[in-house]
Amino acid sequence: MSEHVANRPALPAEIARRRTFAIISHPDAGKTTLTEKFLLFGGAIQMAGQVRAKGEARRTRSDFMKLEQDRGISVSASAMSFDFDQYRFNLVDTPGHSDFSEDTYRTLTAVDAAIMVIDGAKGVESQTRKLFEVCRLRDLPILTFCNKMDRESRDTFEIIDEIQENLAIDVAPASWPIGMGRDFIGAYDLLHDRLEIMDRADRNKVAESVAISGLDDPKLAARVPADLLAKLKEELEMARELLPAFDRKSFLEGHMTPIWFGSAINSFGVKELMRGIGDYGPEPQPQKAAEREILPEEPKVTGFVFKVQANMDPKHRDRVAFVRLASGHFERGMKLLHVRSKKPMAVSNPVLFLAADRELAEEAWAGDIIGIPNHGQLRIGDALTEGEALRFTGIPSFAPELLQNVRAGDPMKAKHLEKALMQFAEEGAAKVFKPSIGSGFIVGVVGALQFDVLASRIEIEYSLPVRFEPTQFTSARWVTGPKTDVEKFVNTNKGHIAQDHDGDIVYLTRLQWDIDRIVRDHPALTLSATKEMM
Ligand code: GDP
Repeated sequence: MSEHVANRPALPAEIARRRTFAIISHPDAGKTTLTEKFLLFGGAIQMAGQVRAKGEARRTRSDFMKLEQDRGISVSASAMSFDFDQYRFNLVDTPGHSDFSEDTYRTLTAVDAAIMVIDGAKGVESQTRKLFEVCRLRDLPILTFCNKMDRESRDTFEIIDEIQENLAIDVAPASWPIGMGRDFIGAYDLLHDRLEIMDRADRNKVAESVAISGLDDPKLAARVPADLLAKLKEELEMARELLPAFDRKSFLEGHMTPIWFGSAINSFGVKELMRGIGDYGPEPQPQKAAEREILPEEPKVTGFVFKVQANMDPKHRDRVAFVRLASGHFERGMKLLHVRSKKPMAVSNPVLFLAADRELAEEAWAGDIIGIPNHGQLRIGDALTEGEALRFTGIPSFAPELLQNVRAGDPMKAKHLEKALMQFAEEGAAKVFKPSIGSGFIVGVVGALQFDVLASRIEIEYSLPVRFEPTQFTSARWVTGPKTDVEKFVNTNKGHIAQDHDGDIVYLTRLQWDIDRIVRDHPALTLSATKEMM
């Protein structure tokens, strides 16, 4: 049954059926489990936990990796595609630690919507809030899945209130839980007037679904114990008075989130959520470039790189650049313009990640994510087009925009701090610079929230309280050029020089004017705001 109301009527059907989204959550809320069930119901795997891994490289640090290791499922990458009903879903993985990092931000530039998973007993947790804020920066529509309803959880109104107050967004119940914990029997689907009954005996079995003509339908009384039914009626009456009804426009604008109550591990509520993304979620949206807005229905292919993943196949030292197609109908073998280098690029072996395998993508449409194996030519932010010189905007560059000094609360722990910082630098969670004069480190990030995340991670993961303090610098540029020129430059600018975690030379300053002057006075040197992060 399609209830889909197109909000972009000009879209060709193949584009209109695409839904490209990410899942955001606090660790342990159930993102991996939910992903697994998506794949199961999307037909990408046969039986949760039973599919043998194929000969794919499995060395990413993503959550899909964890899924593979834990459950022996072969999922290979940062983006996976599968069909459900008449829809094609593209699920883009958010990075492992799901903190507010550049990587997360970039991932969210490639999607049109996000699913927020919360634990019914814990509500909105710190990472949920941070990731939510990133989505809000982009006005992404958000669907909420309140998980683990088979356990003791909070009162339904309390959960909804917390989301409304904590995240300042309207919450409209799409389903309403019946019972809780051991007495949880299922949910009432408010969008379709159906009773969904959870099957506790078989975790991979989908709930029994019964059409109900309303709360007085005798079918309800026949299946729901009297006390639970009385409570359900009372709560729904209150909900009708206190909570807004689902409004698709408000949802698509990012002002309202529909919430489903379920239990991912019991496959409960998952299909309803999937149907929700399909029927109400956004179609591929226009993308911004510096020159103009790119509409998905434009006939010519355009796309941008939002992630580069190395070592996906240990036998081949290739990298895969993940490209979000912004417009058009892509066909394998197409020659596209690599806008940055102004060189044509024959895309002859693009891949689609269909969960169980990496497959050659014979074709793809706006909204899809394709992987393009390459040897380093493709970088984050790069545009591919059929000839137009476009620069997509909104994809953060590598150069940190905020710099702070970091100090260990206990000066004796400086070595520990260094180790922690190096780990985060390698993960790409922050830039770490060691100034050539003085002790200590300067940390660079793109969003101020990252300092909080780093401080709490260093404290939790290394038992090391730290302080971030202002520094005199606001910009960092990587310095490259002939060895003797670089050495001379370093020696005469010691107070501005630092090394990053790879030992590469960085120039720190607070003045753009400074950078312009160096570029003018030292033609042999290159001052770069980006660097390959591998
Ligand atoms: P992630 O860290 O967000 O990816 O969370 P996982 O999917 O790995 O789940 C964390 C833990 O919660 C695992 O032990 C899961 O088995 C468990 N879990 C996930 N969904 C449910 C659920 O619906 N009910 C219960 N009781 N446990 C769940």
